[in-house]
Amino acid sequence: MKIIQAVRGFKDILPEETPLWRELEERARRILTSYGFSEIRLPILERTELFARGLGEATDIVEKEMYTFVDRGGQSLTLRPEATAGMVRAFIEHGFQARPKPLKLFTLGPMFRHERPQKGRLRQFYQVDAEVFGESAPEMDAELVGMTLEILKAGGARNLRLEVNSLGCPDCRAPYREELRAFLRRHQEVLCEDCRQRMERNPLRALDCKRRSCREIYQEAPTLSDYLCGPCTRHYQGFLRGLSVLGITYSENPHLVRGLDYYTRTIFEIKAPELGAQDTVAAGGRYDGLVAALGGPDTPAVGLAIGMERWLLCAGPLKVSSPGPDLFLAPLGEEARFMALELSQGLRARGLRVEADYSGRSLKALLRQADRLQAARALILGEREIAEREALVRDLRTGKQIKLPFRDVPDLLNRLLIEILF
Ligand SMILES: [Zn+2]
Ligand SMILES: [Zn+2]
Repeated sequence: MKIIQAVRGFKDILPEETPLWRELEERARRILTSYGFSEIRLPILERTELFARGLGEATDIVEKEMYTFVDRGGQSLTLRPEATAGMVRAFIEHGFQARPKPLKLFTLGPMFRHERPQKGRLRQFYQVDAEVFGESAPEMDAELVGMTLEILKAGGARNLRLEVNSLGCPDCRAPYREELRAFLRRHQEVLCEDCRQRMERNPLRALDCKRRSCREIYQEAPTLSDYLCGPCTRHYQGFLRGLSVLGITYSENPHLVRGLDYYTRTIFEIKAPELGAQDTVAAGGRYDGLVAALGGPDTPAVGLAIGMERWLLCAGPLKVSSPGPDLFLAPLGEEARFMALELSQGLRARGLRVEADYSGRSLKALLRQADRLQAARALILGEREIAEREALVRDLRTGKQIKLPFRDVPDLLNRLLIEILF
């Protein structure tokens, strides 16, 4: 029979991988909490119009990469390609503007984009996503970048490179957009098909083109930094000063644009060069207009996302061991098996990691299994042990063993606990 495999670009996270995932998620949670963030859990499925309106119709994500379908009720739904739009939707829907500001929220979970799968890029991928609502000060942007670096480093990432830029506000962007469009027109013969379309619909997006021929031309393109208005310039300078205060090295990249329309002012990318082509491990920026654009009250906001898979690729040196059971119960015979079933429940209730084997295998096979599980000790319950009301406890590291008499089960449990814990 033909074997059914996982969908291309979708991947199982295997038992030997999950300890590292959990460890990184825990470290991220700890740091986020220390910065005052609370966790929110959002649905994976949203109405398609949320992304169309939130991310911009003329973005690659919305045009080409979303998993969109019509459900049985005739409603167009989309598997979320990123978390910010859903976060903003929740912010508005639950009236979070009434809460004390700034409001700091984070979420962890899978995102979905129909891109060509490659190393560090899956179609279902996981992100740590954090957003701050109700604060426009550039110090907050610097603090967020500092926090992102702290999280990544806590997960073993090294040699990180931070690139920053300002995308200005609608005021400074309008004249720039026209200037850029004129530049693109002058070069349209040599631009790729995508960029020729972007030129008319959304010229800023052209700067994000991955094609080398386009990229070379864009080195000469006018940059937004030359068009920033007074307040945007001051904000950007404040952000850079904040980074310096935190001792963070950065490089300004005037050609940095993010693939989404909602960004204003600060944007940043953190790269790990050892990752190769897909080297952006975290990114984010400010989106002061998005809450209002989605029908909420005017609320400045800034956020970031860390790509879990890429972060894990950088976490190479971090070793997380999953310890074996404290006690492996090796019962011989039916009576002993039921006794093991009962014993193991009582021992776990006292906080021990306990596994019992009910397979009816030989003692030799049972001890081999205990070894495979890297159990610290085995408790052997044979017919003779039961007859003599004694259990044999073997320390599997030293080979030492002792007999423990048991007059009744609670007594045995207590004595075992003493033996194991002290
Ligand atoms: Zn401006
Ligand atoms: Zn192009």
